[in-house]
This record gives sequence, C-alpha cells and structure tokens, in this order.
Amino acid sequence: MSMLLDVQDIHTYYGESHALQGVSLALQPGETVCLLGRNGAGKSTTLRSIMGLTPPRSGRIVFNGQDIAGRAAWRIARRGIGLVPEDRRIFATLTVQENLEVSQYRRPGGQGRWTVERIFDQYPMLAGLAKQAGGTLSGGQQQMLAVARSLMSEPLLLLLDEPNEGLAPVIVEQIGALIDDLAKTTTILFTDQSVHFALAHARRAYILEKGRVVHAADSAALLTDTETQHRYLSV
Ligand code: ATP
Repeated sequence: MSMLLDVQDIHTYYGESHALQGVSLALQPGETVCLLGRNGAGKSTTLRSIMGLTPPRSGRIVFNGQDIAGRAAWRIARRGIGLVPEDRRIFATLTVQENLEVSQYRRPGGQGRWTVERIFDQYPMLAGLAKQAGGTLSGGQQQMLAVARSLMSEPLLLLLDEPNEGLAPVIVEQIGALIDDLAKTTTILFTDQSVHFALAHARRAYILEKGRVVHAADSAALLTDTETQHRYLSV
C-alpha cells in the first residue's frame, strides 16, 4: 500500500542548532502512530517540520503523493494536514461555539462533513460548554476543543503534539477515547512521553533521541521491551 506520509531523512535547524538529524518515518492511510521520546528529543520539531512551521533544510516529506517539504504551512493545511500544537491555541475570549465557527473551513477536496452542529452531536461534552469562553475551560476541555477545531477542515492526517500534557489521569483516558474515535476516520500521528498511553492507542511507535529515530516497533513488541523503554524513555 502506498504511504499517506513518507518523511525521508529530514534535517531541521533552529538557527545553527541541528534539531533533527535525519528523521525518517512513514504512515499508511488509516494508521495511528505514536512518536515517543524524552523532553527535547525532537518530537515537536518533527510535527512542526511536517506542518511547514519549521521547514527542514534538507530531506523530503511526501504527503499524498506530493513533496511538501518547504511549502508554506497554509498550503500544507489545504492539502489536508492538521496540527494541534502542544499549547492548544484556543481563543480565550471566544466561546466554545465561536472557537469552532471561526475554524470552519472547507478544504479543497473536503466533503464539508464537519459542521459545528455535527461536532456537538458527536461530542456532547462540547455542546454543554457551547456558550462558555475558551479561557475558562479546564485543560482537558481545551484539548477536546483544540482537536474538534482541527476537525473542521477535515484533515487527512492529524498531528497531535502531546495531547496529554498536564492533564489528570482520568482526563487522559478521555483523550485516549477521543483518539480512538478519530482513528476510525483519520490517519493520526501523535507524540507522547508515556509508553503506556502510546501503546494503548497506537499500533506502532517511533522513538526519537537527540533528533534521530533510534527505534521503531509495533506497540505490542515495545510494551515487553523494557530495555528499550529504559534506554530511551522516561518510565
Ligand atoms: P518537548 O517534550 O520538550 O517538547 P520534544 O521532543 O518535542 O520535547 P523539541 O521541542 O522538538 O523536542 O526540541 C528538539 C530540540 O530543539 C531541543 O534541543 C530543543 O531545545 C530545540 N528547540 C526547540 N524549539 C526551539 C526553538 N524555538 N529555538 C531553538 N531551539 C529549539
């Protein structure tokens, strides 16, 4: 099967700092894959490189058959990639409903499948918060809203940067359920620091360290591979 996303040997810099030193990874359509690694390993930079926010200086990023490396982020979004950044970027003074309305965008090739009403039908928790200002939501509610907002453009590939960061365990379970639900219709690449969450919600994982992919494995294999977990992850 051809890959939906094929990242080939990308090198990304912040000024002179060589953050990604030859990252390669690939996702088939429909897969949910996790990017693991400790703080500073390069997870966010990998997602930002794919999205075009910190474009790689070399390497290829083939998405849906076209090389998107070096394209502007808005062009990449139009092609069907959505990013939910680590800090979520909710509009604090807009209500939940308004946050969704301003994100409604019919991507070329999209079916117009998601409307605010459909989001509320699918995720009643957000419907209950419709009139509440984004800034008053809990961290978990903000994360739900951030993900729902990214759905409004019907991404073919959803990038979620540490969706669980700073959330209580019971909320992490809800985010996990949300990822499982989205995975029925969308290809997902998410980052996390916990091998257990990753393995519960992704079939495969890549481990990054110092800007390189140091390990790639099926989740089930990684779960029993305590040596790799101890070497590269916080466990
Ligand atoms: P975290 O969980 O802390 O976000 P991460 O695995 O996502 O970790 P990145 O944020 O991608 O890691 O960082 C990779 C490397 O790039 C680190 O050495 C980091 O210090 C550096 N870096 C990240 N953002 C910047 C920036 N804006 N300017 C300079 N260096 C940066």
